[in-house]
Amino acid sequence: MIIMASNVVRRLYIHFPFCRHRCNYCDFYREIAQSGFNFDKFHQYLKTSLGVHQELMREEGMTWGKLKSLYIGGGTPSLWEQGPQYLKEMMEKMQLTFDPKYEFTYEMNPGVKSHKNLQDWMDFGLNRVSVGVQSMNAIQLEKLDRFHNLDDTFHTLNMLRDLGINYSVDFMIGLPHSRDGQRKIVDELAQVLEFNPSHMSVYILTTGKNYVHAKDLPSDTEIESEYLAVADFLKGQGWLHYEVSNFAKPGFLAEHNVAYWNLESVAALGPSATGFMKNQKKALRYKWMPESAQFSREELMPHELRMEEIYLGLRTHEGFPLEKFQNNLDQKSSTNLKEIFSGWDKRGLLARRDSKIILNSKGMLLLDSLMNELFWIEKLFNIQ
Ligand code: SF4
Repeated sequence: MIIMASNVVRRLYIHFPFCRHRCNYCDFYREIAQSGFNFDKFHQYLKTSLGVHQELMREEGMTWGKLKSLYIGGGTPSLWEQGPQYLKEMMEKMQLTFDPKYEFTYEMNPGVKSHKNLQDWMDFGLNRVSVGVQSMNAIQLEKLDRFHNLDDTFHTLNMLRDLGINYSVDFMIGLPHSRDGQRKIVDELAQVLEFNPSHMSVYILTTGKNYVHAKDLPSDTEIESEYLAVADFLKGQGWLHYEVSNFAKPGFLAEHNVAYWNLESVAALGPSATGFMKNQKKALRYKWMPESAQFSREELMPHELRMEEIYLGLRTHEGFPLEKFQNNLDQKSSTNLKEIFSGWDKRGLLARRDSKIILNSKGMLLLDSLMNELFWIEKLFNIQ
């Protein structure tokens, strides 16, 4: 992992918290925006939060550089018709420009907005789309209470393929009614690949206690076999499993997300968005409040940063740089660390490359349990 320690911020996330409809499993902060909805309040929020954010950056000695990535997440940002014009003006005001090799992603959901809207975003500079397909099974889309149906999905995937834009697909596993082979995961993935996406994010459905389909959810073992089926299939197609939930064709990693895992500064704006800034002196995480353009902040102590560095490294194919950490440990801790990894090695859960420990797909699924073992080596997280 490359740890950046610069006072220049080159990445920005904007949260657009509106959806057409509330899916029955969703606990993100979002509001419902029917057709003709007025986004003035949201625009005002962004405007005020921008001023607050500039002040924060001044206090922390941070400055903007040319943007390497801009990510509009949600919610359903493809509902934001005024978005391209609004952001263009905002960036001009901030004197923000794109780096020559920038990545600009927005999230869209099938069935929401048209080719024309996407074209407006592309004219503004959008060069990547993340589309919430979730499943290619009509019954499961219904169970998930998604706004879209399979016809919408095919329409959107056709449009993206024809436009030739770089795009990623969000796909979910662990869905209700997928027990006993009721869901043909690999067939669904093969169908998606026909539309030539370059990237896939695969998430396990997480639900609250009173989830309406709780009794129809698959077991952990069934979810594990779905996850491994996805990983095997995509790797068999030449894709990289480069992070716990992310797969990409070589050369198509999500740069913006990689920056999070590398602990680079990523500024954030918008209700409930979380930003991170780090320079030589400190690391700061801040979260915007939903109702007012103010944020709560948390300064990360050196040992917390170290913990994140280890955890995030192990999430990705960058892995854990064993030598770097081992050199700072006493004999006992170093032996313990080696024993833990050797146990995982024997269980076939990791690989070693250039003195790095890299979890394989099965190992990634068990990452939390590895972290629990590592926590016992206190010195690993002690920073003098
Ligand atoms: S579209 Fe996404 S953000 Fe919106 S309600 Fe559904 S799951 Fe939540």
